[in-house]
Amino acid sequence: MTTQKLDALRDYNSAVKSAAEILCKGGIVAVPTETVYGLAASAYSDSAIKAVFEAKGRPQDNPLIVHISSLDMLTDVARDIPECAYSCAKTFWPGPFTMVLSKGENISESVSAGLDSVAVRFPANKTVCDIITASGLPLAAPSANTSGRPSPTAARHVIDDLDGKIDAVVCGEDSVVGVESTVVSLVGDKPRLLRPGAVTPEQLRKVLPDLVIDDAVLKQLKSDEKAASPGMKYKHYAPKTETFLVEGCSGSFVRFVNSKTDCAAICFEEEYYSINIPKISYGSKHNESTLAKNVFSSLRDVDNLGVKQVYIHAPSKDGVGLAVYNRLIRASGFKVITL
Ligand code: AMP
Ligand code: MG
Repeated sequence: MTTQKLDALRDYNSAVKSAAEILCKGGIVAVPTETVYGLAASAYSDSAIKAVFEAKGRPQDNPLIVHISSLDMLTDVARDIPECAYSCAKTFWPGPFTMVLSKGENISESVSAGLDSVAVRFPANKTVCDIITASGLPLAAPSANTSGRPSPTAARHVIDDLDGKIDAVVCGEDSVVGVESTVVSLVGDKPRLLRPGAVTPEQLRKVLPDLVIDDAVLKQLKSDEKAASPGMKYKHYAPKTETFLVEGCSGSFVRFVNSKTDCAAICFEEEYYSINIPKISYGSKHNESTLAKNVFSSLRDVDNLGVKQVYIHAPSKDGVGLAVYNRLIRASGFKVITL
């Protein structure tokens, strides 16, 4: 298959129109969003959803998030919507926030991987919203990467992973948030944070005071444990280079990595010039939003350094730092070194 490159930076209207036409015909199209690039398909089309799973190599039991471009579309996707969902929508939509609700009957069974719930997001990115509106369809869209690889935050990342496997890529702006949406389940007895993102627990608790943070956010699930969010049990976000997450102060981190050979470091910009092995800075240790924006491209870039192992300096767990930390412990397969 030839993957069409639709250049939204040069000809926005025709890129949006072509993407919507392909989606209406049951095709699959990678689209920019503010979190990461998504691989979109009609949430009503079983065959399009199956093509998404196949192109990504995604495990069949890992459900997809459905994207809408107006609050009116929510009732096409979900049913029995609780009052707190509307409070969340009012506060966090459009934006990097996903709610798990009871599934509407027209949504393909494959979207929810057989669960009777569905995850829904109204993104803030204009390009994806215009494509949803032009197609008139709710769009199921997981991250547009090969399953297990770092998520794509630029069109070139999508092309590296999926060229020849999908119908088209809308080449637009890089993702401004850089980590996937915050996912909160509203179908259990208490609201439950399943995946941290740019909407932080502190912000969520203002609307959902009894929010519970799921164990899988920071811990590795045991092989017999059932995941509230099926995606959390899989190895994720990993570069090909063997990856370790390192906790400790800047001085200890610099001394530790400088004693290593055939290794690289992903470090904070404050440490960059003190490190004398191959290195990539993912931003200032004081700015978790920058770390989030750069984390996945840094994980991709490390594979070009030609080293066997990479040591990543762990961010703080404050604010969006919790989301960055959550991705990095998965990228490192829970191999954490405390200095
Ligand atoms: P991705 O599509 O790669 O952003 O991953 C979507 C995440 O949302 C995965 O971790 C899924 O497990 C989670 N998710 C999607 N739908 C549901 C659902 N119905 N219940 C619980 N988690 C869900
Ligand atoms: Mg993903």
